[in-house]
Amino acid sequence: MKSKKGYVYLAGSGPGDPDLLTVKAKRLIEEADVVIYDQLPGDAIIGMIPEKTEKIDAGKYAGDHTLTQDEINKLIVEKANVGKVVLRLKGGDPYVFGRGGEEAEELVKANIPFEVVPGITSAIAAPAYAGIPITHRNNNSMVTFVTGHEDPTKDEKAVDWELLAKFNGTIVIFMGVKMLEKNCNELLKFKKDPNTPVAIIERGTRPDQRVTIGVLSNIVEKSKENNVKAPALIVIGDVVNLHKIIGLQNPNPKNF
Ligand code: SAH
Repeated sequence: MKSKKGYVYLAGSGPGDPDLLTVKAKRLIEEADVVIYDQLPGDAIIGMIPEKTEKIDAGKYAGDHTLTQDEINKLIVEKANVGKVVLRLKGGDPYVFGRGGEEAEELVKANIPFEVVPGITSAIAAPAYAGIPITHRNNNSMVTFVTGHEDPTKDEKAVDWELLAKFNGTIVIFMGVKMLEKNCNELLKFKKDPNTPVAIIERGTRPDQRVTIGVLSNIVEKSKENNVKAPALIVIGDVVNLHKIIGLQNPNPKNF
């Protein structure tokens, strides 16, 4: 067995509520030899990893890198090369702002067999739990996912805020807490309507999910009042108005 090459699963754990794990991700958590995880899956899911399993916390919280991406890539390859079944567990979906694509490329380079296991992305699930469908026939017929925190090592800016200001659909911003003020100002500068509804959903689908509602011109102030913290998603668009109609009956997933 040990001489055989191992196998890697690049899997998403969904947005945090363990009931939103896929059947496959749950099975892999129970069966893998090694689980390499970030903090994003959350304690409820990390706590499901069996005692006997080797657990490695890659701990990639913003500003507090336990392991660099290179080190993580090396570790996955190293564990697979000694014949282990490795579960690389990432929050949400592994290929949505999760660097899963980079890890997959490394596995191809190292000639290690792997497969991807999609997860429910927080971009859809967190707004849903907050009563915000990210599309709605009467409101928004387009959606875009953007990063609010661009890689500082990249020379060119990849997010075109001028284009987004004109975009008449729902904008979902990942990793957007730190740069909220700057990004809102960019949208306002390019003449996006200051009354555009905005929601910030912290810890979406977890028992302590919290939703802050405002409009483009006052959401920064509201986020300060609430001391909003990552992980949080920012949803911009008219669909946010649905929160007060279909989001208030079950404001807390604990009651679901
Ligand atoms: N692959 C993940 C995203 C990873 S990027 C996915 O598909 O969901 C990390 C960012 O995702 C966080 O900064 C935050 O913006 C968002 N995020 C992930 N889980 C979240 C949750 N439960 N609630 C709110 N935001 C979340």
